[in-house]
Amino acid sequence: DRSAPVFARALAFGDRIALVDQHGSHTYKDLYCHSLRLSREVCQLLARPSGDLQEERVSFLCSNDVSYVVAQWASWMSGGVAVPLYRKHPQAELEYVIRDSRSAAVLAGQEHVELLGPVARRLGVPLLPLPPTVYGAAAEVPGEWGVPERDWRDRGAMIIYTSGTTGRPKGVLSTHHNVRAMVTGLVHKWAWTKDDVILHVLPLHHMHGVVNKLLCPLWVGATCVMLPEFKAELVSRAGLQARLGLSIRGPGAFLCRERVLMVSGSAALPVPVLEKWQRVTGHTLLERYGMTEIGMALSNPLTGARVPGSVGTPLPGVEVRIVSENPKKDRCPYMLHADGNEMETRVTPGLAEKEGELLVRGPSVFREYWDKPEETRNAFTPDGWFRTGDTAVFKDGTYWIRGRTSVDIIKSGGYKVSALEVERLLMAHPSIADVAVIGVPDMTWGQRVAAVVALQEGHALSHRELKEWARGVLAPYAVPSELLLVEEVPRNQMGKVNKRDLVRRFYPSEPG
Ligand code: ATP
Ligand code: MG
Repeated sequence: DRSAPVFARALAFGDRIALVDQHGSHTYKDLYCHSLRLSREVCQLLARPSGDLQEERVSFLCSNDVSYVVAQWASWMSGGVAVPLYRKHPQAELEYVIRDSRSAAVLAGQEHVELLGPVARRLGVPLLPLPPTVYGAAAEVPGEWGVPERDWRDRGAMIIYTSGTTGRPKGVLSTHHNVRAMVTGLVHKWAWTKDDVILHVLPLHHMHGVVNKLLCPLWVGATCVMLPEFKAELVSRAGLQARLGLSIRGPGAFLCRERVLMVSGSAALPVPVLEKWQRVTGHTLLERYGMTEIGMALSNPLTGARVPGSVGTPLPGVEVRIVSENPKKDRCPYMLHADGNEMETRVTPGLAEKEGELLVRGPSVFREYWDKPEETRNAFTPDGWFRTGDTAVFKDGTYWIRGRTSVDIIKSGGYKVSALEVERLLMAHPSIADVAVIGVPDMTWGQRVAAVVALQEGHALSHRELKEWARGVLAPYAVPSELLLVEEVPRNQMGKVNKRDLVRRFYPSEPG
């Protein structure tokens, strides 16, 4: 049934292990039964005898463990929209999300009740602590336990907030159909099977952690091993064994197993980092590109060459194209996966290397920015393509992300400089540990290039030295005209840099 929601697949996997977390192992049936029971409690709490929340929002704050899945599925089963909160957000941010989404209820894992209590009271939203039983095996649910009858397809499934890299985070509402398309596209492209084991170490309020690493494995009947958070020593084989009692066969670290897929995304992967990772683990990271609004859109191949610095080709079902600022001249490459299998590439010879805005269309593209009809309208072209706001180029059979048009494409004296490209090249400098390149307002050139750099421990670097070195690898107009040294380049949980904040910090008096 192509309109069924993703959790319905769990019914087929019954006693298989779905999740291993700090509380133990949980079967698909455990997840399903706990969720169904909780969904009934939610409807009771909100006095909805029909048992259908009709897209009312349910926020939840859970640790990275079974309680998260149960809260998400319970929100879905009750007909509501799941709004995951992030446990590392300060109270003000939690409050923003609960208020902005106009949540009808808040669910909280045992350890978060205390934190959320005052927030929920302030907002006048009922708080439902998850019963302690969800952390253990589930007893059968009395009565029917199939998929509740609903108009699933176009119903809102979740609101995930964007990272807020270019402004205040926006609530992105995706339908069950969108979520399903995100999952099936990835499962196909990355060839997931039920025999896979997925190590989950990501935050669960962001696409990467919610869809790619949780819903995809659960869709195929695989086992998701979820750690409370990322810690290098836990990710090693010894750490995992000690913590979870897992027996992982084979020599060396878990990371060094032979058949393993390691993925990078959410922000550009600098080639020197990719190379270092290769040296340490023996594996080539697979870089992909996605957004909250569309899930994953482009990915390097599972088998075949992964091109460092590029993000590959579209996922099944995803159409992408690049448009120049002058649409009349727009004859850029246009790639299409029909039926999730055949890929057709239409490239106009000679024009293939044109840079422009990346547009995306397909069943994974979100329904709306929550409560922001005007932003939603502006985000689409008249013929229904979603404007990503990212600049990209198609070259050598693969897509390359140049960065956000608004902050990463620096216009200096008539030249366009990609901050991401400059970052990639600067990362190769032996003294540079991390770097963010920003465009700074300039009276003469419009903008000039500045590099915010964190140095390797014990290293020093002058601006003169950097310029001399950079002239060897960069065009003259892309060589940073300023070097700003910092202890650490500020990045959020997903590794993203807010460049507007950086410009404001270093140039508080400049406009823009
Ligand atoms: P906001 O929309 O609130 O400013 P955001 O765009 O950072 O925040 P997300 O939806 O989490 O929020 O991130 C999507 C963006 O991440 C993309 O538009 C793109 O700029 C960037 N991105 C994702 N993957 C890659 C990648 N592989 N290479 C370069 N950039 C990437
Ligand atoms: Mg964005």
